Amino acid sequence: MTFASRHIGPDPDEQAHMLKAIGFPSLDALMDAAVPEVIRWTEALDLPAAASEEETIAELREIAARNVVATPMIGLGYHGTHTPAVIKRNVLENPSWYTAYTPYQPEISQGRLEALLNFQTMVTDLTGLTTANASMLDEGTAVAEAMTLARRSAKAKSEVYAVDSDTLPQTLSILRTRAEPLGIRIVLVDLDAGEPLPAEFFGLHLQYPGASGAVRDHASYIAAAHEAGALVTVAADLLALTLLRAPGEIGADIAAGTTQRFGVPLGFGGPHAGYLAVRAGLERSLPGRLVGVSKDADGAPAYRLALQTREQHIRREKATSNICTAQVLLAVMASMYAVYHGPDGLRRIAERTHEHALTIAGSLTAGGISVLHDAFFDTVTAVVPGRAADIVAAAASHGVDLRLVDADRVSVATDETTTAAHVETVLAAFGVPVAAAAACGAQPLGRTTDFLTHPVFRTHRSETSMLRYLRKLSDRDYALDRGMIPLGSCTMKLNATTEMEAVTWPEFADIHPYAPAARTQGYEHLVSQLEAWLAEITGYDAVSVQPNAGSQGELAGLLAIRGYHRSRGDLERNVCLIPSSAHGTNAASAVMAGMRVVVVACDADGNVDMTDLSAKIAAHRDALAAIMVTYPSTHGVYETSISDLCAAVHEAGGQVYVDGANLNALVGYAKPGKFGADVSHLNLHKTFCIPHGGGGPGVGPVAVRAHLADFLPGDPVLAGEHHAVSAAAHGSAGILPISWAYLRMMGPDGLAAATGAAVLTANYVASRLRDHYPVLYAGAGGLVAHECILDLRPITKATGVSVDDVAKRLIDYGFHAPTMSFPVAGTLMVEPTESEDLTELDRFCDAMIAIKEEIDQVAAGEWPAGDNPLANAPHTAAAVTADEWNHPYPRSIAGFPKGVDRTAKYWPPVRRIDGAYGDRNLVCSCPAPEAFED
Ligand SMILES: *Cc1c(COP(=O)(O)O)cnc(C)c1O
Repeated sequence: MTFASRHIGPDPDEQAHMLKAIGFPSLDALMDAAVPEVIRWTEALDLPAAASEEETIAELREIAARNVVATPMIGLGYHGTHTPAVIKRNVLENPSWYTAYTPYQPEISQGRLEALLNFQTMVTDLTGLTTANASMLDEGTAVAEAMTLARRSAKAKSEVYAVDSDTLPQTLSILRTRAEPLGIRIVLVDLDAGEPLPAEFFGLHLQYPGASGAVRDHASYIAAAHEAGALVTVAADLLALTLLRAPGEIGADIAAGTTQRFGVPLGFGGPHAGYLAVRAGLERSLPGRLVGVSKDADGAPAYRLALQTREQHIRREKATSNICTAQVLLAVMASMYAVYHGPDGLRRIAERTHEHALTIAGSLTAGGISVLHDAFFDTVTAVVPGRAADIVAAAASHGVDLRLVDADRVSVATDETTTAAHVETVLAAFGVPVAAAAACGAQPLGRTTDFLTHPVFRTHRSETSMLRYLRKLSDRDYALDRGMIPLGSCTMKLNATTEMEAVTWPEFADIHPYAPAARTQGYEHLVSQLEAWLAEITGYDAVSVQPNAGSQGELAGLLAIRGYHRSRGDLERNVCLIPSSAHGTNAASAVMAGMRVVVVACDADGNVDMTDLSAKIAAHRDALAAIMVTYPSTHGVYETSISDLCAAVHEAGGQVYVDGANLNALVGYAKPGKFGADVSHLNLHKTFCIPHGGGGPGVGPVAVRAHLADFLPGDPVLAGEHHAVSAAAHGSAGILPISWAYLRMMGPDGLAAATGAAVLTANYVASRLRDHYPVLYAGAGGLVAHECILDLRPITKATGVSVDDVAKRLIDYGFHAPTMSFPVAGTLMVEPTESEDLTELDRFCDAMIAIKEEIDQVAAGEWPAGDNPLANAPHTAAAVTADEWNHPYPRSIAGFPKGVDRTAKYWPPVRRIDGAYGDRNLVCSCPAPEAFED
C-alpha cells in the first residue's frame, strides 16, 4: 500500500459511498463544484513523486548523516541535556501525549493539565515568584512578552526599555524586533562598567547569569529601577537557580527564560518551552495560558485553563499578546524532568555542571589565561588576545564546539552532559593542563531557600513509579490515539509514526542552533528543500520556517509588509483590515506589528461584506497597509469574491495577507500566491502533520511573493538589518523532519487526494447532520470546504440545551468535542479531515444524531431541563456507579449511551468543571495532596 492510502482514512469504496450520499459522481466532480474557478490551480504540483515509508526513512538517514553530532559547549541559552529515557519514550515518542489537542475541553485533559500545573509550580518555585504560565514559545519571545507586560503595568510611563548589555544576542535581536513597531526604544546598559540607568524608563531587563557567564549582584540596579517606577525582568537559567538566589528574592517583578536544559533535546533551536512568571499583583496581566485549579460538579478539585476559555490576551485590537499555540509537549517534558530528578537531583546536576566550569576557570588561570569574571555558574569567558579563532578551531577538531565571542575572547559552557574528558579537550585547545578548580565567586548569591517541596517532585524516583505516573496522567486524556478530534480550524489529522521517527535521532535532536555550519549541512538541506516545496504548494516565491507558531508567522508576515511599505517611503500605511470572523491572533499580530485594526463586516452568508470592504478601503485609502483574510474563510467556505477582494486592496496600495491555517482545503487545488495574495503563514502543526502536542509545538512558516522576500526574518544572532521572530534561525527546526516526511511520502497526487478527501468528509458530515442541526454557512451549490459549522442557537433557544451541553455529552459518547463558539458564538465547528475513515465518521454522526434525539426528549418534557443526560454530562465512572442515583434517566444511558462500546469506554476523570469558581479563587500551582481527599 502507498503511504497516501494509509494517511487517507476512507478507501475508494468508502469515498464512493460518501460521494453517492452527497450526490456527486466522482471526487473530481465534487471538487469542480466546490472550489471556485477563480482560484483553481489545475496543474499538478511540481514536487518529487511519492516515496514509500522505507525509502523516506532511508533518505532521512542520509540527510541526518550530513549533520555532525559534536559536544556543544557554546551555551547562549542552549545546553546539552540527558532526556531521561522513560520521558523520551513515554512522552516525546508517545501518541497519547503528542497527538492531544490544546486543553480547551478540560474534562478530557486532566492529565496534561496536571503536568502543566507541575510545570507552573516548578517555575514559580525556582524563580521565587508567585504565578507562572504554561508556556512560552522560547526565551526570546518570553522576554519580549515581559517587556510589553512591563510597559502595560509599570507606574513609569516612558518609551525607554533599559537592557543589560550582557543579554543573550538572540534575545536582544527579538527585543529590538518587537520594540520598534511599538515605539519602544531599547537602551543598553553596561553593568560591568557601572553605567547608570537612563533618566526615564518603564522597565529593566537583566540576564542572570549574563551571556558572558557572569553572575552579578543586581540589587542596586533593581532598587534604582523600582525607585523610578519601572518593572524589572530577570531572564534566568532555571538550572542555575537551584544554586543561586531566585529572581523573586532579589526583587524581580517578572522572570522569563527557557526550560530547554530540563531534558528537552536541542533540535537545532527548538522546539523548547519558554517560561514567564510574575510576582503577586501582575497575574491578571500575564499573557499565555495559565492552568488553574477549580472544582467539578461534585465539588472535586479539577484543573482547567484559568481566566479564559479562549485566550483573553488575543482579543482583537485590545490584544496584549498573540501567543496561542505554545510548547505544551516540551513543557510537559521539562516538568517531568523535574518530577523525575526532584530538587536533590536537579541540585546535583547543577553542582556537577558548576564544578566542571570551576575546573576550567581554575586551570585557565593557573595556565596564565585570564577569565573575565570570577562569579559564574556554567559559562567561563576566557581572554585570549588574537588567539580566539585558533582555540575554537582546535577544540572543534576534537569534537567540542566553543563560542567565539570575538577575536580575543572565547566562552565555554558546561552542562549536564559534560565529562572530565570534555574538560581536558577544552583545556588542551587552550594549551593548558587540568589544574585545581577555581574558588566560586558566586557564593554570596547562593540560594538559601527550598524549592520543589510538593510531594509530586519527591515521589517518583524509581523508573517504575515514573512510568506509572506518566501512564496514569495520559490515561485521563483523550487524544487522537483514542478517536477523532473533529476540531474546526485546527486540522487534527494523522501524525504518522514514520513522520515522527527522525525527531529523536541524535543527528537531528542533538544539534546546537549555533553549531558551526560544517556540522549542520543535513539540516540546511532539509530546511531549504522544505521551504522550496512549501513555496511550490502555496505559489509564493520565498518561504521562511523561522516562526515557531502560526501567530509568529503572522507577525513575521505583517512585519514584512511593514518593512516593504517603509522601504518605499510609505510611512503612513498602518491600517490593517480584518474581517469580523477572523481568528484572534490576526488582530493581535497586527497590533504587535504596529498596525491599527479596522474591522470589516461579514454578510449574512458569512462572507466578507464587499460593500463594507469598499467603504473601509475608501475611508483609509492612504493609510491602508494590509488586509488579513483567512481562506477558505473561518466559516469553512470557499468565497468566490477573493480575487475581487485582493484586487480592491491592491488598487488602494495595500498588501494582501492570507492566513493559511485552512490550507488543508487548498493544497493541490489552489495557491494563495497565485490567486492574489502577497503573503501567508502556514501551520505545519495543522496541514502538514506536526502533532499538536496538547497545545504545541507548532511551526508557522511565512511565505511571500518576491517583492517581500527581502523582508523575511533573518538569523537572530547575525540579524543586522533584519528582524527575527524566533530565537533560532530555523525556529523549531527539530520537528521539520515531520512535515518533510509527509510531503515526501504523499507526493503531488497524494497531497491533492488528501485535500479532496478532506472536502469530501466535511461535506459528508454536513449532509448527514443537516437534518438534525442546521449547517450555518455554505458556498456554491450548498457545499462547504473542509469544515462545517453546526448552528445550535435555535436549539438552545427552544430547549435551553447549550453548545456546552452537547460538547460535554459527546465525551460520554467517546468523542472530543468540535470547536465551540468559534467563529460564531453558540455553534460547533467540525473538521473531520481526510484521515478519519467512514466507520469513525459515521460513529461521530451517529453520536450527534443520538444527542439530537436526547435533546428532543428534553424538549418534549420527558426529562427536566436541569436534570438530563446533557445537563449532567460528562458522567464519570464514579458518578454512574455511586450508591445513590437520583436522576430521571437510567445509569446505562448516562454511562453507555447509544453506540458506545462497553468494552472500550473512555471515562472522564472529572465531571463538568466550574471555571468561574476557579477564576474567583485563583490557584495556579499544585494544591496540597489533602485537597484531593474525599
Ligand atoms: C490556528 C490558527 C492560527 C494561529 O496559529 P497558532 O499556531 O496557534 O499560533 C491563526 N489563524 C487561524 C485561522 C488558525 O486556525
